[in-house]
Amino acid sequence: MTVMPAAFIGHGNPMNALEKNRYTEAWQAFGRAVPRPRAILVVSAHWYVHATAVTAMPRPRTIHDFFGFPPELFDVRYEPPGLPGLYEEIADIVHPTWVGRDVDSWGIDHGAWSVLRHAFPEADIPVVQLSINALKSFDYHLQLGAALAPLREDGVLVVASGNVVHNLGGVSRALPDAGFDWAQRFDEEAKERMLTDPTEVGRLDGHRYYDLAVPTADHFLPLLYLAGVAGATDTPAEVLVDGYAYGSLSMTSYTVGMATPPASGSGFAAPLPDGPPPDGANI
Ligand code: ZN
Repeated sequence: MTVMPAAFIGHGNPMNALEKNRYTEAWQAFGRAVPRPRAILVVSAHWYVHATAVTAMPRPRTIHDFFGFPPELFDVRYEPPGLPGLYEEIADIVHPTWVGRDVDSWGIDHGAWSVLRHAFPEADIPVVQLSINALKSFDYHLQLGAALAPLREDGVLVVASGNVVHNLGGVSRALPDAGFDWAQRFDEEAKERMLTDPTEVGRLDGHRYYDLAVPTADHFLPLLYLAGVAGATDTPAEVLVDGYAYGSLSMTSYTVGMATPPASGSGFAAPLPDGPPPDGANI
């Protein structure tokens, strides 16, 4: 069987789900370029809990895990089937790491659907999510990513979804298409490592701008899963699309194991609604 590629997508704010810009066009080009997977395993920044778990429901629900956004975003439904049997395959392949089987708490969150509705608009490929365990070290996430790599040979497309630089408190509406100097320096260092020695992104917590770029680990950790996949097969990542939004967000996305598809989109990442992001907006 064809070996599936894998990806990390910088998803930005949830409004990208509804808009068309050069990032969403790159996500669409990615979806069109990959061989049809048996299932999509999403590692989303937005399922960040105190456990490692896999969704195992036949019909995962669309989760609107944010607030402060227009009603049309809450109307979005992305309703592919689940694939409950993938839980056993994952539990086997990552053993002795323990993963929980989630049958009723999660579903498909906006870190997943804001990307998938562009990449796989038909919503006809089963989607399963893997939670990010907030209690674990960078090495744990890298190793779990590496352990998942063989799923690529079995028709599973691994898509991690976060943002390399994600500082909501620092966003500037005056900079829709630019990044602060510190954001660029951190993102460029991450890129250097992803393109040469991916597992070295696990040492970025020592970077001088780490605390500014990664004030909370949730959006950064998905990158470690792609780095783990890349490291397991000794394959450097490639940039799918890159850029900055509102000063303090990096929109950089990476793939492993595929040629970067041409994308011709234009336009900057979706703007945030008016006013400062409310505390706990969870985007
Ligand atoms: Zn997010």
